[in-house]
Amino acid sequence: MPIKLPHTASACRGKSTPPVYNFSGGPGELPAAVLAAAGQAIIEVPEAGLSVLGISHRSDWFRAVVTEAVANLRRLLNIPANYHVLFLQGGSSLQFSMIPMNFLRHRERAADYIVSGYWSAKSVTEARREGQVNVAWDGAAQQYTRLPEPGELQLTQHATYLHYISNETVEGLQFKYIPGPTDVPRICDMSSDFLAQPFDINQYALIYAHAQKNLGPSGVTVVILQDALLADVPKDLPSMLDYRVHIAQSSIYNTPPVFSIYVVLLVTRWLLNEVGGLDAMQNINAQKAQRLYECIDAGGGFYRCRAARTDRSAMNAVFHLPTPELEQSFLQAAQTEGFYGLEGHRAVGGIRASLYNAVSLEAVAALCAFMENFRQRYG
Ligand SMILES: *Cc1c(COP(=O)(O)O)cnc(C)c1O
Repeated sequence: MPIKLPHTASACRGKSTPPVYNFSGGPGELPAAVLAAAGQAIIEVPEAGLSVLGISHRSDWFRAVVTEAVANLRRLLNIPANYHVLFLQGGSSLQFSMIPMNFLRHRERAADYIVSGYWSAKSVTEARREGQVNVAWDGAAQQYTRLPEPGELQLTQHATYLHYISNETVEGLQFKYIPGPTDVPRICDMSSDFLAQPFDINQYALIYAHAQKNLGPSGVTVVILQDALLADVPKDLPSMLDYRVHIAQSSIYNTPPVFSIYVVLLVTRWLLNEVGGLDAMQNINAQKAQRLYECIDAGGGFYRCRAARTDRSAMNAVFHLPTPELEQSFLQAAQTEGFYGLEGHRAVGGIRASLYNAVSLEAVAALCAFMENFRQRYG
């Protein structure tokens, strides 16, 4: 399948290619202004006079990039001083291991894990290598079509921590409440809805999100953690896997992904200066999701959501058509008409439209018009 560039990039090239609306589940769409600035920076960062790909990570310029990116995240999320903000490598999958290495290894008590989908199931596999895990709830028997209600969680008394995923990217399930007791450190993978809406960081001991779904290119993962969590970290961890090492070196322990961090900085500037903060972002995202789910529901059952209504994700709408053959025709027609990235994750099939921050209301309107038209032809 040929890869078409998103409309923003084709516009940069100045060609009269048809618009391509990017609904990819990840790496996802980025804002046009960010892509333009990132493109420029590959040739020459204006204030440095060099390509971003050739600037030392020990330069004053890069230190300033990290400092500003951290400050912008602190501003966007109101992060207090007792939290550290880190830029790490290895994606969210490495966090599945690093978290239990630092916080579960050699501990007497179990950690609670909520298994609500494809990604949280993976997080448990890794945690079990490090210590005792209690699965507080498992949605596998219902093929991960809904999330638990608060009363359904079977929690350990004084668990070492509770881990969950705020937005299950593959199944399109998003928590509308914060699960778990207040006296257990709460750890959350926010990879696919970080910076899509405001949240209270004080409710969490640690949150993490790789960049490539909603805040930049792959290669960097944002970790925000409470200082108090570090009290009992084992002494013999490899340096690269020890949060304290990265904190001590302000995320420049070894060569970090300079370009990816720079683009994350550009995205935080876009959120602050163009969008106007996370309340405004949430408002736009809610409109996009409402529009798309209305369009799905209006089909008289032709489009069928995977997720239970109350647990539907504002970031990833996952749905099916009456037959796999119709789904194939849908994807083919969508591609011809300039919609990219709509195929569902290989674990669940069907269609997935990801509505990350940079996906415009206009793109969603175009998708809805296409879906309405397709249903009239085949429904
Ligand atoms: C995509 C995804 C992951 C996997 O991230 P990698 O950076 O590829 O390791 C983990 N968690 C969630 C919620 C995801 O959406």
